[in-house]
Amino acid sequence: MMTLTGIPVSGGVALAQFFIYREDVPLDIPRFRIQREIVQVEWDRFCSAVDMARIEIEVARSNTLKENNEILDAHLLMLEDPVFSNQVKDRLEKQLLNIECAVSDTTREIVQKLATSPVEYFRERAMDIADVAQRILRLLLEVKRETLADLTKDVIVIARDILPSDMLTMNKERVKGIALDAGSKTSHAAILAKTFGIPAVVGLSRVTQEALNRQKAGKNEKNTELVFVNGETGEVVFDLSDRIATYKTLVQDFRNYRKKTTEFMVNLPAETLDGRRVTLNANIEIPEGVEQALACGAEGIGLYRSEFLFLTSGQPAEEEAQFNAYCKVIKEMDGRPVTIRTIDIGGDKVISNMVDTVEKNPLLGARAIRFSLAFPEIFKTQLRAILRSSIFGDVRIMFPMISCAVELRRALFFLEEAKDECRKRGQTFAKNIAVGCMIEVPAAAEIADILAEDSAFFSIGTNDLIQYSLAVDRNNELVNYLAQPFHPAVLRFIKKTIDAAHSANIKASMCGELAGDASATALLLGMGLDEFSMAASSIPRIKKVIRTVSMKDCRILAEKVRECKSDQEVKDVLERNKALP
Ligand code: PEP
Ligand code: MG
Repeated sequence: MMTLTGIPVSGGVALAQFFIYREDVPLDIPRFRIQREIVQVEWDRFCSAVDMARIEIEVARSNTLKENNEILDAHLLMLEDPVFSNQVKDRLEKQLLNIECAVSDTTREIVQKLATSPVEYFRERAMDIADVAQRILRLLLEVKRETLADLTKDVIVIARDILPSDMLTMNKERVKGIALDAGSKTSHAAILAKTFGIPAVVGLSRVTQEALNRQKAGKNEKNTELVFVNGETGEVVFDLSDRIATYKTLVQDFRNYRKKTTEFMVNLPAETLDGRRVTLNANIEIPEGVEQALACGAEGIGLYRSEFLFLTSGQPAEEEAQFNAYCKVIKEMDGRPVTIRTIDIGGDKVISNMVDTVEKNPLLGARAIRFSLAFPEIFKTQLRAILRSSIFGDVRIMFPMISCAVELRRALFFLEEAKDECRKRGQTFAKNIAVGCMIEVPAAAEIADILAEDSAFFSIGTNDLIQYSLAVDRNNELVNYLAQPFHPAVLRFIKKTIDAAHSANIKASMCGELAGDASATALLLGMGLDEFSMAASSIPRIKKVIRTVSMKDCRILAEKVRECKSDQEVKDVLERNKALP
């Protein structure tokens, strides 16, 4: 057996064949001389490939929303471009090279010229030509690009990283487990894996290389080698040989255990031994997440990451599409609170068609509320859709990445404008919608008392709060070891936020991953946190912890932790006080 260990980010265990997912699999272009007599045959192959490419693009065009057509239209024009095809023909006839080689060499020559042009238009065309040529070459070589959406058999996906948009479109029925080189507990691929209930391990550094080596060495010749992913311990095991039966039993036992615990916990209250009732909400990314949220006993949606609506289509969602998605969630939650966070675009959730500039430091750039304030029409479209949906239930609005009071006030100003626009259109919305902000930037925690003046609630986003307070990129496995939620600085920011909320008589919730981390539950209760929101699958486990502690002990624990000087000291205190699961 060969075991790699990474960061367990989504619980459960899985056993299946592995599938290496690489966005750009380089094509192996054969190069050989041809007889003059078969020039025509090769040319005909080229013409058929171009015809096929045209059909493929037209199909894609008819499945794409209008705004995306521009790129595909450009690709269609490129296919008709006589300059390109004449150069290919010339090479074929004069150099007597096989057609794949003629296409590849011609493309390289054109792309090199265009890519170094000072004119942006030509540089962009270089990418289009490369893209179209790649499509033609794939058709000539009969290489089918397998995407995660096309999976037809059960697999463990192994990759360097998976973009949030690819996670959304993958065939979730078929993905039994995920193992990634990159990532951390709070990277979006990890968060989505948890939402979909797919066992996942990230930060493995060399799992893709290992899988590729095994494939090259012929150990996985027929793609039948099984790999085991343990989302509880972070282990990924290859070379199972005669232990397959044991692992199969393990997977089945775990599934049964999880099902039983969830069913047992779902109807029990989240109440401490001394009677303190705690609200447990779910985080969702897509409307379909509601089903699992309810099945796991969520009392509300504490964080609806609405930007995933935009990520699926790769462009701003239209008002009606947003309205329908919000209504679906709100109606299915049947009167329970639904907190819709306005879009958190930017960072690693980039929609390439929406912004022209490439940011050097996207995590410190026009992300989240900054993006919304920079594009008021997109922002107000979303706010109108939320307002209109509010009549169907208990809707709350939450702004992400607020870093100063002016930002919050500008967001509230646009909300008022959106309300006026709804009124003018005769569209009704609920009165007194609670509007709160996320506390996920250290500056926001420091001025939480000021932000509380304009907020109906706070929700602490520990994923970003940790990232920004400790200067640790949440997607970078090299610095992941520094992302310590129990770092005294992080705990002070959390405490400051909770205290500021209580002084202003508003509630402090937490929707970052720490809220679903059982080792932090007693401490957070002791610090005074009012509500927890987490991946639905974590709810039974957190409820179990809550039901075994008393508020009195939790407060004593929080007092002890307050004295700690390092994250290790905090962990030691938690361990000594049996607060670790
Ligand atoms: C957070 O930052 O903790 C959070 C909940 O938001 P996201 O993970 O979507 O950035
Ligand atoms: Mg965040």
